Amino acid sequence: MKKALIIGGGIGGTTMAMALQRAGVESRIFEAYDRPADYPGLFLNIASNGLDALRAIDVEVVDRADGFPIPRMVMWSGTGKRLGQVANGTPLPDGTVSVCVRRGALQKALREQALDRGIDIEYGKRLEDYEVTADGVVARFTDGTHATGEILIGADGINSRTRRILDPDSAKPRFTGLVSVGGYSRTNLAPTTDTQHFVFGKQAFFGYLIRESGDIYWFANLHRPDEPTRGELAAIPTEQWRRQLRDLFADDLPLISQIITTSVGDIGAHLVHDIPTSPVWHRGSVVLIGDAVHATSPSAGQGAAMAIEDAVILAKCLRDAPDINAAFTAYEHLRRPRVEKVVAYSKTLSDSKAPGPVARVFRDLMMPIALKLFANPKSHAWMYTHHIDWNEKAVTKVA
Ligand SMILES: Cc1cc2nc3c(=O)[nH]c(=O)nc-3n(C[C@H](O)[C@H](O)[C@H](O)COP(=O)(O)OP(=O)(O)OC[C@H]3O[C@@H](n4cnc5c(N)ncnc54)[C@H](O)[C@@H]3O)c2cc1C
Repeated sequence: MKKALIIGGGIGGTTMAMALQRAGVESRIFEAYDRPADYPGLFLNIASNGLDALRAIDVEVVDRADGFPIPRMVMWSGTGKRLGQVANGTPLPDGTVSVCVRRGALQKALREQALDRGIDIEYGKRLEDYEVTADGVVARFTDGTHATGEILIGADGINSRTRRILDPDSAKPRFTGLVSVGGYSRTNLAPTTDTQHFVFGKQAFFGYLIRESGDIYWFANLHRPDEPTRGELAAIPTEQWRRQLRDLFADDLPLISQIITTSVGDIGAHLVHDIPTSPVWHRGSVVLIGDAVHATSPSAGQGAAMAIEDAVILAKCLRDAPDINAAFTAYEHLRRPRVEKVVAYSKTLSDSKAPGPVARVFRDLMMPIALKLFANPKSHAWMYTHHIDWNEKAVTKVA
């Protein structure tokens, strides 16, 4: 039986361990956090294709993570003109649609299922270095310990240490020009059942949904041509964000200011980066998955789904290929074109959120036409109808 070391216990890493177990590969997860900290962060979309991939290995997250269906997205201009509506994915054959979950809840649901399946997750294990040996690979951690395995899977996110060791020339994550800010509110506004709303404001982009409970999930994307440092963002207190956001959206739909004003708890902010392409996906006994090799900006709602698909497909390749190199080669062959297309598509969506004043007028005129085209379910079928059949043999011979 092969033995895998998985670096990173995030969305991709935990799914990877469960998929490998199905494939008959033993694995251990090494996570840098010193305890099961369900990382902070807001909420995310698990697109229907991501749910399909989880089903392939019988992992359930929707109920466990308090997920709720969001099959529809409605776009507005800042002045309140309804620009149009698009489907948030393609329903699976049984009618299941894309869902919204809090990132931390998704992380917890995956972790608990991995633990239920007897998977070992070790905390406080930050990868420092690894060495490929005749028998496999030795991973060394910053706490001075090490672990050995036949293969090492880097699932350590956008700032992957594994990627930097694998390919010291790998590109740095690209700043998309957006800062994402968000939080949770409560007001007496009516629920937006099944629908997430997006507002192309005069100066910034706003997204929100209101659950039946009255809880509001919201975020804003702010355009920043010069990349701020993480420290600068972290130093901005919640009250300052509240003021700044109210100013930015002062000329837009009043509901936005109402939501921002009633925000409960911290308002969080982070820089939005992506990785459009990575030259090296694997070398010898080491391979990358998820954000470590192809981070996407959140605009297409596909980051988690791509990490999950990677994990399930890599496990199938390891199950079916004659050797490790053939498995990794097949995995890259199956995944690279799809993920690079998703990252590029998401970047075009991100760019549409930050136009100048002239482009904004043009966008508001053209958007209803473009949305009519997008409303056709076929226009995005390539992204959402990706199906993984666990029992089908992975295509492991690459021409
Ligand atoms: C605000 C925000 C909104 C998003 N919205 C969406 C959305 O709507 N839809 C969507 O699909 N995706 C979204 N994403 C993206 C999604 O969260 C990521 O794409 C997804 O988490 C990728 O999974 P991953 O396992 O590759 O990386 P992560 O989930 O980031 O996991 C990486 C793990 O590796 C650990 N790690 C890092 N370095 C080391 C090391 N040296 N040694 C050991 N462990 C290490 C980290 O602590 C972490 O636990 C969003 C992301 C953000 C930030």
